[in-house]
Amino acid sequence: MSDIVILNGRVITFDGPDAEAIAIKDGKVTAVGSTAEIREMAGSAQVIDAQGGTVMPGFIDSHVHLFGGAAELDFLNLTGVIGVEALTAVARPYSAARPDDKLLFACSIDYALIGDRSITRHDLDAAIPDRPFAASTADHHTVYANTKALELAGLLHGADCGTGSEVVMGKDGLATGELLEAAAFMPVLEMTHLGGREMLGMTTGADPIPAPDAKTRAIDKGVIANGYKHCAMHGITSLHNMDGNFYQLELLAEMEAEGTLLCRTEIPMHLKHTDPVERVDEAAEMRAKYSGDMVWSNRVKMFMDGVIDSKTAYMLENYPNTDSRSEPLFSAEHFNEAAIRADAMGLQIAVHAIGDAAVRQTLDGYEAAQKANGVRDSRHRIEHIETIHPSDIPRFKPLGVVASMQPLHSPRGGFFPAYESGDIIHPHQIETAFAWKTLRDAGAALIFSTDWPVVPVDVMPTIQGAVAGVELPSVWLDQRLPLREVLAAYTRDNAWVEFNEHRKGRLRVGMMADVVVMDADLDAMPIDQLGSAMPAVTICGGRITFEA
Ligand SMILES: [Zn+2]
Repeated sequence: MSDIVILNGRVITFDGPDAEAIAIKDGKVTAVGSTAEIREMAGSAQVIDAQGGTVMPGFIDSHVHLFGGAAELDFLNLTGVIGVEALTAVARPYSAARPDDKLLFACSIDYALIGDRSITRHDLDAAIPDRPFAASTADHHTVYANTKALELAGLLHGADCGTGSEVVMGKDGLATGELLEAAAFMPVLEMTHLGGREMLGMTTGADPIPAPDAKTRAIDKGVIANGYKHCAMHGITSLHNMDGNFYQLELLAEMEAEGTLLCRTEIPMHLKHTDPVERVDEAAEMRAKYSGDMVWSNRVKMFMDGVIDSKTAYMLENYPNTDSRSEPLFSAEHFNEAAIRADAMGLQIAVHAIGDAAVRQTLDGYEAAQKANGVRDSRHRIEHIETIHPSDIPRFKPLGVVASMQPLHSPRGGFFPAYESGDIIHPHQIETAFAWKTLRDAGAALIFSTDWPVVPVDVMPTIQGAVAGVELPSVWLDQRLPLREVLAAYTRDNAWVEFNEHRKGRLRVGMMADVVVMDADLDAMPIDQLGSAMPAVTICGGRITFEA
């Protein structure tokens, strides 16, 4: 007897041939076969008619910021807003609707809001002169604040925030409003209605002080619950969070008990470049305490550099027309030591590395760990890899390093505009920018994700970006991949990278019943319309978490 049967589908199993139907019982897949076969064993099971739509393992987004992404569903979203006039037009009604917010906060402000020059506090003042107002860029590496917000945060006259972060100062001796990296903008974020708690895991990896009371925890869980609903609506059944602290783990464990945890979620320990390597031991503590199927921890996350747009990505050569190639957040010695220690403890490591020098230094650290501890099945990851030196591409395979990439971060995905060649990166760097196909062809394991809320967590636009992409100047090499390979990178391979390939990511008897039923046959869709396909039903562990 089954709990649920799904019939009349085009079932992609990622485990041999396609099928038409599956049966689910007690959270597991119990049969895969033809509609006739599965119908016969349906009994009193709930029947889902897939109506010819694709049925496949639930999507696993392998790089998200759940708390921050969930929080942003509620902030003013500035995607596509260009110019002060347009900013004013959306910010004023938002301000009117949020009279009680100490700080009006917006997300996804375009670096090019004002065109060529940097955004200043005066631009934001023009939109909202009378209340504190700030906006973060989609990549979360820069925040722009108006004069009132800078005053309130105590940043108007500048602040020393250490390596890699900067309160940019103007010729008038006052802050321009541009705040680079977390240490510079956290004082602003602490003024949102969430008190910056949603960013702590990303910015410091520390827990909120003082420990939030029951009311605050309920607010935060409400925000995260909203985020889960949003993810389930997009067919997602598992998330790999890229920021973490004990606080988030506690909230998720409570949510699991309360029944509001709709996606399995892995939370890492975030090691900062300002931390001593001994702090890695916290990751082992997290792993020991949280090791369930729904909430678990087994990984250390680090940042090696910033981002290209703000020229904080660590490059092998100077940015065009500058004498700076930025610098790494971790020194090579510090990073190697941390990598060796985490690797020796059997932990997985994931490192944000965007500049070609940051990618190289990360590979060097993984190599040092392998030399020190011996070869093991570590599946260490490098996140983003927006630029890479050609000589580093063949290093992934022998080191067993995973390329974790986000198709919509590439201009090929059509979400962000292409860099002008020679403007912010050199023409020869463009040839190996966002080179996921090149990396895969060189034998690297490749996984896909969104980095929500950098881009929306919506799965299908990312799939379309990797499969169809948009036309770019010919200096950009074609990195597009076939649909089935991209779907595999979002399911089977994301299950593999979390060491769960024997339990999820494929539809076969005994696997977790994490399943998405799409409203269309993806194989039959024009590839430039894949982004419009939506889930009809999402199932996580045999529980229906979304139904259209
Ligand atoms: Zn991220």
